[in-house]
Amino acid sequence: LADQSVSEEELLADPVEKVMAVGGTRHPAIALPADLFQPERVNSQGLDLDDADILASTAAEIAKPANLGIAAGPNAADAVSRALAAYPAWSSSSLYTRAECLGRLADLLEENRLKLMALAVQEAKKTIPDALSEVREAIDFCRYYSARAIADLVPVELPGPTGERNVLRHEGRGVWVAIAPWNFPLAIFLGQVAAALVAGNAVVAKPAPQTPAIAAFAVALAHQAGVPEDALQLVTGAGDVGAQLTSDTRICGVVFTGSVPTAKAIARNLLLDDDRPLVPLIAETGGLNAMIVDSTALSEQVVRDVIISGFQSAGQRCSALRLLLLQEDIADHTLEMLRGAMDCLNVGDPSDPATDIGPVIDQVSYDKLMAYRQSVKDRIFHSVAVPAKGLFVPPTVIRLDDLDQLQNEWFGPLVHVATWKAGTLDATVQRVNAKGFGLTMGLHSRIARSSEAVEQMARVGNLYINRSMIGAVVGSQPFGGEGLSGTGPKAGGPHYLYRFCAERTTSTDT
Ligand code: GLU
Repeated sequence: LADQSVSEEELLADPVEKVMAVGGTRHPAIALPADLFQPERVNSQGLDLDDADILASTAAEIAKPANLGIAAGPNAADAVSRALAAYPAWSSSSLYTRAECLGRLADLLEENRLKLMALAVQEAKKTIPDALSEVREAIDFCRYYSARAIADLVPVELPGPTGERNVLRHEGRGVWVAIAPWNFPLAIFLGQVAAALVAGNAVVAKPAPQTPAIAAFAVALAHQAGVPEDALQLVTGAGDVGAQLTSDTRICGVVFTGSVPTAKAIARNLLLDDDRPLVPLIAETGGLNAMIVDSTALSEQVVRDVIISGFQSAGQRCSALRLLLLQEDIADHTLEMLRGAMDCLNVGDPSDPATDIGPVIDQVSYDKLMAYRQSVKDRIFHSVAVPAKGLFVPPTVIRLDDLDQLQNEWFGPLVHVATWKAGTLDATVQRVNAKGFGLTMGLHSRIARSSEAVEQMARVGNLYINRSMIGAVVGSQPFGGEGLSGTGPKAGGPHYLYRFCAERTTSTDT
């Protein structure tokens, strides 16, 4: 911002407005009186699904196979060396310079939205609505962390006796390793990267092996937005690349989204070497997410939210519904309605705008899910017809006679259903808590006392009442869990950036 005639005082007086004023093409109608940031609804400007042109041009982009090429990047050790060399200059650049880079990156994401959507469809097999949400969320992460950095990471003067000055600063820590999943190959990938960068760190980013091209494109856009090349590097590849990066004793932290076993393996790697400094791990893992429905719930709403939460994105979200718990009295009726709604689902080619649910990510995942489905075939309540060819796992509802029959997270469109008796709501929540995960929970009830009780008892990061339980909105619904579901802090929330910083206090006797 230095050459844009906005002084630091002015920025501090009204940081977000000023950054937007100089940061380019932010929609002018935005108003931020109560908070820093307006989420998805604002960034959906120009990204409207009703827009037939978008659908047509996305389809055209998807048809271009050339989009999938990526150049070979550095190996893990070289990438860390180069990032270390780039770190001092980047971390001592102005906070506003770094925040402005994220603003420019958001603009570039908007400009390239069709290509990004096409890559999300091609590589991650996202449906077009999911691809659109993916791009929106990535934009939101960049704008949100940009705004939060300016508000939160400035030096803070703290109280002390007369004659003493105490200042708390938030600074970069060094080189972070960012490891992203294939299910949000742009949004989570860039969310991790943007947070680490704006806090003053260099980053070595490893995308999932299934989705390197969209990550490579995102990194190219970040460089175009002004992030120095060596301060953000991409290391692609399967196998032990992640282990190499997390075992490198020169890194200062790891931000990871993926499975519980991988998170534990990373935690072990970070402690392997006795001489190694202690470094933070931010992990967001899976969930065994339940939706509890009582007899006061509106059936139509419940069915809609089960379909969205359990089957959208082919159930390939950490937040997705895995365990539907219906009060006994309404179970049969609700399940019959659910059967009807499932029969309306259109499972097929993700690049077809008419498709509701696409295939799962790869053969390994398909085989695992289908083998499990086969093993519980006697308990299948209903499933949806799917095309004969392709990696289409039928959206399926599986009955449980006992909650102990479900121990693992099945990362696909499989919803388990069990019942509970009136008067046992507390015990039902406790049984879900006892599974040890703590990511999302849903409740459908119109009894205020029940909502309050569940809110108090549920050990989850995100509780959703009388609505679907996926699609957390950046800045409105900070996302992340506890227990086996992750370490926190929550992505898209007001405390996320702090964990990427070294907090340093200077006390001066004046
Ligand atoms: N934030 C996503 C949601 O709310 C889920 C992220 C994930 O699957 O890791 O649906």
